[in-house]
Amino acid sequence: MLFSVRMRAAAGGPHERGGRHISGAERLVPEDEVGTVAQAMFRRAQTHSRGTADFIRVTVEAVPETEICHVPLLALQERPATDVTAGRQAALAALTAAGVTPVAAQAGLAALASLPDSMRGAMVCCAVSGRRLDALAERGVRVTRHDSCDSAAFAAALARQGLQGEHVREALVLASKVAAAPGMVAELCWSDDPEYTTGYVASPRDGYIRLPHCKPLGSPVGGRVFFVSPAADLAAAIRFWQEQPVLVDLPATDWGCSRC
Ligand code: AMP
Repeated sequence: MLFSVRMRAAAGGPHERGGRHISGAERLVPEDEVGTVAQAMFRRAQTHSRGTADFIRVTVEAVPETEICHVPLLALQERPATDVTAGRQAALAALTAAGVTPVAAQAGLAALASLPDSMRGAMVCCAVSGRRLDALAERGVRVTRHDSCDSAAFAAALARQGLQGEHVREALVLASKVAAAPGMVAELCWSDDPEYTTGYVASPRDGYIRLPHCKPLGSPVGGRVFFVSPAADLAAAIRFWQEQPVLVDLPATDWGCSRC
């Protein structure tokens, strides 16, 4: 049995009563790690650079192993960019290479760049027209119940590649789950952490592409856009993202995973 441990925090009351999103986190861990992980999430919500949360909900839910599906970790690469203009140009190029039309890539990026404040989840947009398809307003689609199959091996392997810290670990796992949904074409993301300006484009076709300088330093507004094929079963994709427990398998040769 594993446990989904998830946290969401807001300032000015709960999200559903208009509170401003501060922080969120997702893990899928064995029982003996639940206490430590929940405590770390609580601390993270209290000390987030987006502000002081006065609503913090940590949810713990048992997940039978038989319900968990496994998906592969996306391959990781990085493209250079020296400023925000170049970072966003690189994002547009990566989105179109992955199969998003230029008009949809432009529309999705513009939607993200013009958010008045961060959402809790992601916008789902058509990969051909760029039109927003979900009806979840500023909540968006929240991807839950996922983790890497071996957190220690994963963190150590990323550290060997010079990648420390939670942002890239969490984003690579989330993007690997997101990419495995039926009809998924590509994802665009940059963080809502004011100090973290690196974003990414991820896709089943080209993997996870880190892009420096996707937003200006100091901006507290981030978000995600999931571009799906017009033929996608949207309800099935949203169910997969929001409900399906997923462990992301590390390729044993490169990542030294002890479990898969
Ligand atoms: P982060 O990468 O944690 O800084 O999050 C950046 C933005 O991505 C947030 O403001 C949300 O809009 C979105 N986001 C974060 N976590 C999730 C998630 N689990 N599912 C969907 N969207 C998310």
